[in-house]
Amino acid sequence: MCKHIISYNNSTNIHKLQLPNTALYKTATFATLKIMAKISINLATGSIQKPEIIVGIDLGTTNSLVAFINPEGNAQVINDLGKGVLMPSIIHFTANNDTVVGNDAKEFLISEPQNTIFSVKRLLGRSYKDIVAHKDFFSYQIIDDGNDESLVKIKVGETFYSPIDLSAMILAELKHRAEHALKTPVKKAVITVPAYFNDSQRQATRDAGKLAGLDVLRIVNEPTAAALAYGLGLKPDDLSHGDEGKTIAVYDLGGGTFDVSILKINNGIFEVLATNGDTFLGGDDFDRAIIDYWITENKLDKQLLINNKELTQTLRLKAEEAKVALSTQNLFNQKVGDIFCTIDKQTFENLISPKVAQTILACQNALTDAGLAVADINEIIMVGGSTRTPLVKQKVASFFGKPVNDSINPDEVVALGAAIQADVLSGNRKDILLLDVTPLSLGIETMGGLMDVIIPRNNKVPTKAGRQYTTSVDGQVNLKIAVYQGERDLVKENRKLAEFDLKGIPAMPAGFPKIDINFLLNADGILTVQAIELRSGVKQQVDVKPVYGLQDEEVERMLLDSVTHAKADVEQRMVIEAQTEAQQMIYTCERFIQKHQTLLSQAETAQTQIYISDLKLIANTTDKNDILNKIEILNDYTRPFAERVMDTAIATAMKGKSI
Ligand code: AMP
Repeated sequence: MCKHIISYNNSTNIHKLQLPNTALYKTATFATLKIMAKISINLATGSIQKPEIIVGIDLGTTNSLVAFINPEGNAQVINDLGKGVLMPSIIHFTANNDTVVGNDAKEFLISEPQNTIFSVKRLLGRSYKDIVAHKDFFSYQIIDDGNDESLVKIKVGETFYSPIDLSAMILAELKHRAEHALKTPVKKAVITVPAYFNDSQRQATRDAGKLAGLDVLRIVNEPTAAALAYGLGLKPDDLSHGDEGKTIAVYDLGGGTFDVSILKINNGIFEVLATNGDTFLGGDDFDRAIIDYWITENKLDKQLLINNKELTQTLRLKAEEAKVALSTQNLFNQKVGDIFCTIDKQTFENLISPKVAQTILACQNALTDAGLAVADINEIIMVGGSTRTPLVKQKVASFFGKPVNDSINPDEVVALGAAIQADVLSGNRKDILLLDVTPLSLGIETMGGLMDVIIPRNNKVPTKAGRQYTTSVDGQVNLKIAVYQGERDLVKENRKLAEFDLKGIPAMPAGFPKIDINFLLNADGILTVQAIELRSGVKQQVDVKPVYGLQDEEVERMLLDSVTHAKADVEQRMVIEAQTEAQQMIYTCERFIQKHQTLLSQAETAQTQIYISDLKLIANTTDKNDILNKIEILNDYTRPFAERVMDTAIATAMKGKSI
């Protein structure tokens, strides 16, 4: 008689979907919630309404840089204060604890290594245990506080700094450069991180941004940014590249780190299929190979160099100069004091060949992990200064069997991509899709405080979805619609985004109105919810924002909660659904007795009332089976009465007519 009813109402006031006096019943079945344990993407923290400058920042191990979209609409790196585009990620602390960041700090690497911090990115989000194997790499003091779990601290003079503090100093300097060059305050940024960064490292990066006075709208994977800079995933043909999408390899060889990522770009969504690499492999190794060669050639005492930090650093810089020169010429020939710093290209290539082979092996491993073969890769993108070494390009192209993409400056490509991502977030680029998916499900509150999911999580945006509801009591004229975000079955565990009223529905019998609730999630991450009663055309619409107003860790917590509580939530949902159905059954049967007294015998009325009382007694308990059982008894008993109403109606309609 009244199966599937999930809510009911007994007055004509404004009704909220979750309250017992609401009047909606869903004509579609519940969406099955797919609960996922892992976040596969990281999301921005806000959607922006009016265009403004949002910079893209490549916070690198060796160098950092900042880019923006110029008035012509092109991504451009910021070259400010006459110091070049690349800002060394180096901080020097002076004797009175002032800081010098960037180019001016670099020279202190030689003279004051203990007060000059480099490669801080390697320490971000790391505990002492994580880095102890490499602690000799750092010339400054890293503190072992005996606690394996706590994040590392760096001691300079008598002061302790966290890698977040130090990264914030680098970011603050980049912010300052950008503000100086653009002559406008810069408050918002997109920052890139390696694809293999874990949540702790990503969060540390975000915190560093915050500390530098930046609202970090999004943490973007470096390979994703590089692909964006090459326009991949932006052009319409990439967006509609068939169901297969495009598979690309991003080969990133920097100063101290190497990684290769295999990305799938499909309909504007970037998915990291696999990453591989070595966080202690890069151009610095090439420099070291050259130094070792010079030591041998000049028959120098290695111990002498170990004790003479200044000479070591001078040779290191000279070796780098030689390496860079050998990218475009065949011979490098200079002197440092009595030391002959000579090397030819062939010798250099022989020296670095094992290191390059190591990167090729990592490419093979990444492909294997992604379950792909070389032939599956559509494009290869080169990132990082060390990809300028001809042997590197050659070996990568030969492994993948096709030419590599290296037309964009490999130092700048990540920052440029970050600026493009920032531009999309700023709302300036309406022509392209926001390259994202919804982090959490979106839905409305229904009877019993249940979450009815309309757009499931991980759905790509923009997207549109809707569902039809109807009233289950006569004469309901208003309806309250509450919109939530989250994975839990009960809305009180989720996050409320908005609430609005659909007013002025003409009074109609229960089940008669057809109320369409539609969710439209646009490319800016703004959700528009529209409710329309189809018979009368009564309509109400609200914009809900921001959908992405959650920190990554909040999203993660909400997802983890949904997994932890999945079983209990499902049980609770089933109990609430049974209770709701019971209330609806009682309400409908009582009204039936009132309205159709004449169709029932006295005994039938009495028996129906007994069954109603039985159901009322247990309707609010948590024994779902008992409730469903009593509903069934009442349903079975009253079903013939409903048929009698139908027969009477048909008999009346047919009176005087012949078939
Ligand atoms: P990145 O970490 O991406 O800034 O890359 C820095 C590394 O690229 C350093 O090891 C540089 O010595 C190296 N590099 C920069 N320019 C060149 C070049 N022209 N040829 C070879 N290596 C280079």
